[in-house]
Amino acid sequence: MTPAEEQPLTGPVRVVWSPDMLAYDFGQGHPMTSARLDLTIRLAQDLGLFDAPDVVMADAGVATDDLLARVHDRAYIAAVHRAATDGVVDLEHGLGTSDDPIFPDMHEASARIVQGTVDSMLAVWEGRAAHAVNVTGGLHHAMPAAASGFCVYNDAAVGIRALLEAGAQRVAYVDVDAHHGDGVQAVFWDEPRVLTVSVHETGHALFPGTGHPRETGGDDAPGTAVNLALPSGTGDAGWLRAIDAVVPAVVRAFAPDVLVTQHGCDTHVLDPLTHLRMSIDGQRAAAQLLHRLAHEAAGGRWVALGGGGYAVVDVVPRSWTHLIGVATHQPVDPATAVPETWRDLVQERFGRQGPDRMTDGRDARFSPWTSGYDPSDDVDRAVRATRSAAFPLLGLDPDLD
Ligand SMILES: [Zn+2]
Ligand SMILES: [Zn+2]
Repeated sequence: MTPAEEQPLTGPVRVVWSPDMLAYDFGQGHPMTSARLDLTIRLAQDLGLFDAPDVVMADAGVATDDLLARVHDRAYIAAVHRAATDGVVDLEHGLGTSDDPIFPDMHEASARIVQGTVDSMLAVWEGRAAHAVNVTGGLHHAMPAAASGFCVYNDAAVGIRALLEAGAQRVAYVDVDAHHGDGVQAVFWDEPRVLTVSVHETGHALFPGTGHPRETGGDDAPGTAVNLALPSGTGDAGWLRAIDAVVPAVVRAFAPDVLVTQHGCDTHVLDPLTHLRMSIDGQRAAAQLLHRLAHEAAGGRWVALGGGGYAVVDVVPRSWTHLIGVATHQPVDPATAVPETWRDLVQERFGRQGPDRMTDGRDARFSPWTSGYDPSDDVDRAVRATRSAAFPLLGLDPDLD
């Protein structure tokens, strides 16, 4: 147990969920299937994580067009409505592509995810919840005027905008999905009150191709974008060393009122769309690190979102169940057996065996940056590039902090 995990709850923890959220599904054969969410919630449920009296399940409803318009263009919102009701393809707005095919409930399902994230943000901001989790959220590629990368509306961006309008002075967003958090970065590029930090596989090898260390924020907000672009093939020890060498320092320096994190689990070695080599244990360690950071640097105000993750049976349910465990102060021991009820469900639905333990058997150990820079190591060079580009703009010394 870490000190932060021993802290008593300062209030209930909110978990946004409604079976209606399963409507966000791009259809047969598309990687973004809602089975990933269904299996996650069922696994967390079967492990008893929702039974504690301080865990509140919230069905937040559907965001209004006016709320979506805090980030998205009205013409784009109208195009999503037309796609949903009449099946109108609109390539200019990214609707009807192979990444973002049209589906009947497209508008409502996407707006429901946004409302879940806005509800999480406001519950934490208003002190109604210590932490909040929306594993259906983290749709970080959606742009103000276009769908992109399986994302229709940018729930994280709309939620952060709602926080600012509710009075938050500074919000930090940390995104550990395998892909660059380009949509959130774009929305707040010139916004000095929002720090966006993205840790991802290099854009030279992976969609969307952005997120290079020299992207550090617009002229009105220098230093408010931090990008850590890691080499393909990076595993637990390198990924955790890199996160630890950059994220706590920049978040502390920014001193946010709220920490928002995106936990795309497509960094896993089994993910079919990316080339990183993380384990469930490494992803769990990152969730713990970010939880501690929220307590230390943001008064405990923490909103955790899902994101990508396309190993539907073997990775997503376990990774996000650990996230829910960390956020609800009931961390799941990695040695825990996966409940038989859940394994039966997998067998019945997928005709195959699911994982039997909540671990991949790794120890998630890494050597901290203070152990010394190794110029022959690709991960260390990537860390160095980010620290050199971003740290001075935040008043940090790239060689010391
Ligand atoms: Zn991703
Ligand atoms: Zn906590």
